[in-house]
Amino acid sequence: MDNLDHILAGIAAEMRGMENRGKVADYIQPLAAVSPHKFGMAVVTAGGSVHLAGDAEEAFSIQSISKVFALTLAIGAVGDQLWRRVGREPSGSAFNSIVQLESEHGIPRNPFINAGAIVVTDVLLGHHQPREAIGQMLRFVRELAGDDTITVDEAVARAEQDTGFRNKALANYMRAFGNIHGDVEQVLGTYFHFCALAMSCRQLALAGRYLMDGGRTTREKGGHRVITDRRARRINALMMSCGHYDNSGDFAYRIGLPGKSGVGGGILAVAPGIASIAVWSPGLNASGNSQLGQLALERLVQHTGWSVFEPRGGAGG
Ligand code: GLU
Repeated sequence: MDNLDHILAGIAAEMRGMENRGKVADYIQPLAAVSPHKFGMAVVTAGGSVHLAGDAEEAFSIQSISKVFALTLAIGAVGDQLWRRVGREPSGSAFNSIVQLESEHGIPRNPFINAGAIVVTDVLLGHHQPREAIGQMLRFVRELAGDDTITVDEAVARAEQDTGFRNKALANYMRAFGNIHGDVEQVLGTYFHFCALAMSCRQLALAGRYLMDGGRTTREKGGHRVITDRRARRINALMMSCGHYDNSGDFAYRIGLPGKSGVGGGILAVAPGIASIAVWSPGLNASGNSQLGQLALERLVQHTGWSVFEPRGGAGG
């Protein structure tokens, strides 16, 4: 698909010239140190072709995008029982809000806000020690991406640990409601390591293939089933409704693809049956989502007609 290379090159060129790049996350030093001028994009198609633009090979902190992989592992471990401990509704509040937990008795709104992902991590620790759970996650993303070089950035994990007072409050609060079963420090230590996974756009787009392809890594021989197609569909539904904090409605409106963002400036987006897409630009908008990442995805769906709301076979517009 030469056309796709052409589209990505055009988007990268447009993004290079953008002045309003948002604000790089500065709650920890390793994120604050990242240049706001970075921009990368990767598209992996259902046919298996890989298309890259800009800094698509540079690893960045995937942060909350890891919540998708943690959810996939937790559903695999306990199935639908997970939904007794975490909801499936958009939160309408910030990713680390504590107020909602009070009225909802310690059951987080969804697995993609911090409180929800901390519960998901606790579920994974019901089956493993922290070291094993972190190893399991690392093996999982390496296998999904077909790339053994993916690592956890220990400096990021440590910085999260040193500054994560609000996450500690969330975890302790849920523990008081009986919705965290394990040791709070261990749950958080594991959660912070998940957030600290470092991946490039190429690796992330490859890792997202199972969501594009009904739960399978690839269609070719050698591709294997990660989850059932029903579960892949449902994770996509959650990404569409809850993947962008308090900006999820606007993301669906502008882009129309399931996606998950992280405060490192990455976004993983899925065009079911068509492509897995990763984009990275560290500057964030007021809701904590990549400013240019969203714009780049908006451009991509305009050019390709990949929005899930596009009548199939129609052109973009
Ligand atoms: N490590 C961040 C936190 O838990 C993740 C935030 C994010 O990417 O949404 O505060």
